[in-house]
Amino acid sequence: MDILDGLQKLVGNRARVDEPLSKHASLRIGGPASYFLELRNIEELTNVVEFSQKEKLDSFVLGEGTNVLFSDDGFGGLVVQLKGEFEKFSIEGNQVTAGAGVKLATLVEKLAKRGLAGLEFASGIPGSLGGAIVINAGTKMGSIGDVTREIKIFSDGRVKILNRKEINFSYRHCELPDKAIVLEVKLGLKNGKKNDIINKIKESLKQRKKNQPVSTLNAGCVFRNPEACEAGKLIETAGLKGARFGDAEVSKKHANFIINCGKAKAKDVYNLVEKIRKTVKEKFDINLELELKIVGEMDERGT
Ligand SMILES: Cc1cc2nc3c(=O)[nH]c(=O)nc-3n(C[C@H](O)[C@H](O)[C@H](O)COP(=O)(O)OP(=O)(O)OC[C@H]3O[C@@H](n4cnc5c(N)ncnc54)[C@H](O)[C@@H]3O)c2cc1C
Repeated sequence: MDILDGLQKLVGNRARVDEPLSKHASLRIGGPASYFLELRNIEELTNVVEFSQKEKLDSFVLGEGTNVLFSDDGFGGLVVQLKGEFEKFSIEGNQVTAGAGVKLATLVEKLAKRGLAGLEFASGIPGSLGGAIVINAGTKMGSIGDVTREIKIFSDGRVKILNRKEINFSYRHCELPDKAIVLEVKLGLKNGKKNDIINKIKESLKQRKKNQPVSTLNAGCVFRNPEACEAGKLIETAGLKGARFGDAEVSKKHANFIINCGKAKAKDVYNLVEKIRKTVKEKFDINLELELKIVGEMDERGT
């Protein structure tokens, strides 16, 4: 059976071919995904995962695309996004149960309105809750792992619950089984004063606006902070602020951000990443590790 026919049997005309991934990435970069679809509930997800395994179709779970660099050649497989049922959440006392497709910004806003404290650190972090879990998204104020009680995942063909100990959160990292899909998250918050929470959020957004290139096309911090120093400071000290390949530029405001000034290609970003790594290694003997997820084929020339 043709792959598209098979996918359409499972999710109707939501299955698309040659979907430009640039539309789904905050960097606005990326070639087409061979197949793309939004999954609306666990039943659809189970059927589609089973189908792609049977057809040996490579697959990628996309959140909101705020931490990814898609190749200019795109992705030769199936890209899925969790929508519908996965965008729902409920609040009971100070516990929140939210689908992986819920936007972090929505949660920050709703919880503040309810006087629930603990997620203020996440104000200004774009992306979905599922994406936040995978990278243990956070700031100096805290990380998503700090408030996570348990998560529901899809792994090895079935739904499983993992508690926070099993997830083992650390700096921008957590331990999930290979190919696990985060479906739902339980967060434990604290009762707080609404005004205090809102003021914290406002202050954090103000700082972000002051220190980060928030109104540009970017994918957040490109590199993880090495132990005991900040990647941005190393890149700045290496004299790389403003360095460019094509339309990709090291932000002049915060050197750990690469921005797409208009028509940047993945290969431009990738070449800049390599130049930064090489320069920082030469000057400080430090190997910078990527925080940004590279998706699809990318070699030295980024093609
Ligand atoms: C302006 C800006 C500021 C940012 N500031 C911060 C910051 O302060 N702190 C910080 O930590 N990050 C920051 N980021 C990076 C990014 O927003 C976060 O990492 C975010 O959590 C990524 O979520 P996403 O839904 O966009 O994930 P995506 O970029 O779509 O995906 C990232 C990875 O998560 C995986 N993934 C996504 N959803 C699921 C799922 N349900 N199940 C399994 N895997 C999944 C993807 O396969 C991919 O490997 C910033 C980004 C931008 C653009």
